[in-house]
Amino acid sequence: MDKKFKKINKNGSVTIPKEIRAEAGLFSGNGVAIDARPDGSVLITPAAPSCRFCGSMTDILTIDNIIICMGCAKKILSKVDVVND
Ligand SMILES: [Zn+2]
Repeated sequence: MDKKFKKINKNGSVTIPKEIRAEAGLFSGNGVAIDARPDGSVLITPAAPSCRFCGSMTDILTIDNIIICMGCAKKILSKVDVVND
């Protein structure tokens, strides 16, 4: 993915572009851990595991390194059932 350039506002906030939030699994309302790295970069990671699709932090499971909630898993399974009919 191409680098995105943003300005830090006077309150210290930076908007993380939507496509980067989606790729990283960062959802509004969910906490993040922010850490300054020795190389000058800043690492932002989800503070707690959350569903890759909806951001839920409850009833989650991990399948092949993808974190998903039971609600989204059921939605996906219902689509698979339709395909098999
Ligand atoms: Zn979900």
